[in-house]
Amino acid sequence: AKEQGDGLYHFYDSLIENQREENMRLENELKAALLEGQFKLYYQPKIDASSGEVIGAEALIRWLHPEYGMVSPAKFIPLAENSGVILDIDEWVLQEACRQNKIWQLEGMPRFPVAVNISARHFYQSNLIPTITRILHETGLEPQYLLLEITEGTLIRNVEYGVRMMEDLKQMGIHISMDDFGTGYSSLSQLDRLPISEMKLDRSFIQGITEDSRKSSIVRAVIELGHHMDLRVVAEGIESPDELKYLTDLECDQFQGYLFSKPLPELEFSRFVLRWDGSSMP
Ligand code: C2E
Ligand code: CA
Ligand code: CA
Ligand code: CA
Repeated sequence: AKEQGDGLYHFYDSLIENQREENMRLENELKAALLEGQFKLYYQPKIDASSGEVIGAEALIRWLHPEYGMVSPAKFIPLAENSGVILDIDEWVLQEACRQNKIWQLEGMPRFPVAVNISARHFYQSNLIPTITRILHETGLEPQYLLLEITEGTLIRNVEYGVRMMEDLKQMGIHISMDDFGTGYSSLSQLDRLPISEMKLDRSFIQGITEDSRKSSIVRAVIELGHHMDLRVVAEGIESPDELKYLTDLECDQFQGYLFSKPLPELEFSRFVLRWDGSSMP
């Protein structure tokens, strides 16, 4: 029995060792990717329900790997979050998104905020505010044109600190969106304390909304709750005209999804905005 126990122990030990090696290898690859410019930002339009105009863009990172091709952030962001490299990635995304939004403004595009996803780890970094301040200064982008998307789950770690951080960001003129609202840890009991501007309904609630009465009840309740609190409610992952019609009837404020456009590289995004006309609503 002792031998077996030892064997198991060694087995787990080497598993953990391999995991550690694997994580270190990935961390180094991610660092190299940053240095070698293998990351690229794509932008997905956010559409205003009442005017039908493009009123924002969410920046979504892509990794153009020299061997594997395009790697989805759903694959590498969770891994990057296990190591400090997520801080460098988030900072690069902030810098790049602010720089690009300023370029669009200088080119005479209609002005709108660019939304950047901030990982929990970065949110609790004491240098988040100085970093954002520096980036806004360097790029010349006014703070109201930056929106931070933060998931509900981010607040579990330390609600008091989280609320203070959000208040400081709001003081700077930066708006905050509660991303993936309704999934994972619920911040419902804290909602009245959060200085946020919008709630974003996760795609999982939108998918099949027209057939699933439980989903549609949840979405209806979230939209009502949001409006009672003077927040706008954004739906992501809209793929069909039926879903759009349904959400329009529920008075959802903003839409995002493949029905309008997939996330696009910056040039294609600006072409989309110029071509798009509120009356071309699907
Ligand atoms: P998220 O913040 O919930 O982003 C929405 C995801 O849904 C994106 O996936 C987007 O491409 C996808 N999507 C949008 N509309 C549709 C649709 O109509 N149908 C379908 N099937 N999908 C749609 P993506 O770009 O693969 O990103 C996945 C997640 O990775 C994001 O989820 C976010 O949590 C994270 N992420 C992406 N970019 C960044 C980043 O720059 N920084 C950080 N920290 N996280 C990021
Ligand atoms: Ca998001
Ligand atoms: Ca998310
Ligand atoms: Ca989501």
